[in-house]
Amino acid sequence: MAPVFLAHRSSLEHDTGAHPEQPARIIAIEQELESCGWIGYERVQSEAVDRATLTAVHPERYVESIERLCARGGGQLDLDTVLSEGSFQAALHAAGGAVALVDLMLDGVTPCGFSAHRPPGHHARAGHGMGFCVFNNIAVAARHALDARGLQRVMILDWDVHHGNGTNDIFHTSDQLLFVSIHQSSLYPGTGSAADAGEGQGKGFTVNLPVPPGSGDAIYCSLVERVVVPLARAFAPQLVLISAGYDAHREDPLAECQVTEAGFAGMARSMRAACAALEAPLGGVLEGGYVLGALARSVAATLEALRGPVVREIAGAGGAGAAAGPEGAGLPGGVTVARGGGGVGAGGSIASGGAPIRGGVDPIVSEAIGRLARWWPALG
Ligand SMILES: [Zn+2]
Repeated sequence: MAPVFLAHRSSLEHDTGAHPEQPARIIAIEQELESCGWIGYERVQSEAVDRATLTAVHPERYVESIERLCARGGGQLDLDTVLSEGSFQAALHAAGGAVALVDLMLDGVTPCGFSAHRPPGHHARAGHGMGFCVFNNIAVAARHALDARGLQRVMILDWDVHHGNGTNDIFHTSDQLLFVSIHQSSLYPGTGSAADAGEGQGKGFTVNLPVPPGSGDAIYCSLVERVVVPLARAFAPQLVLISAGYDAHREDPLAECQVTEAGFAGMARSMRAACAALEAPLGGVLEGGYVLGALARSVAATLEALRGPVVREIAGAGGAGAAAGPEGAGLPGGVTVARGGGGVGAGGSIASGGAPIRGGVDPIVSEAIGRLARWWPALG
């Protein structure tokens, strides 16, 4: 089967009013994919999440409170998080899409995929939603992979510009879930300091990689290639999921990072190469991203990179090296050199056009490697 793109029309019924997290986000993504033939992905309707699968993360009383609030026509969960009558069904399908993605990949039906729903999920904690998020879709899917599907090691990379505090907290004490988050520091919700490494048995399995405002493709791609990929090799996950938010994009008004479509594609290619070597399926779950054009183009770039060069390899186009994505030269193994830039490593200067970071890329990567070597000596 082709790679899958999971979606559901209920995402459009989650009415947030005048709000950056709006139905037009999904419409923009689907129009972009439509215009490029869905990049070989098959669009699959997601089902509502099974109640027991949802309550493995979120207490029944919380789920019921959301259901009741929506049945009454909606209301505010917090200052940022608005619910309408259609939000409960939308949230059930958003979680259900992520779970279905995991099942399709673990069953070997599809090699990779992307679940594109709203509301997003990574800020939602077990007992309360926040920050535009109602249920933590990726956490529900990961919990399902561990509990119902019997996996022992699942990895989540969260590249949304905000810290995925909900996912961070839900798996804080677990050594079965390696949570890695790259996020702009001192941004909403204020969590995700480098010092938060998990607790108890989960110590070392929460990896926070805060980056300064202005960080662009060079920093994001270098952290993925030189920190996240080695972490994946050391942890050897049986499944990798990406909390794929696109608000680190240079055009996005909610933060000050400078990532471009090439950066998102580069990170996805690095993860695809790592997952191919580990024989671990890799899927993305949509989080933030609020400028419609930038969001749509970035999702398309991610899908192209996640899918990899398979189609053209089969066509005898000369192997992986011949199958460059739209943004740069795809080297064998998926290592990416972005347009006009230098190498990813060695103080690399992938040309993102972003504001230069004082001290460059290397100190940020080196600090992370040094800090993490305590738990992950293979990184040193
Ligand atoms: Zn975000």
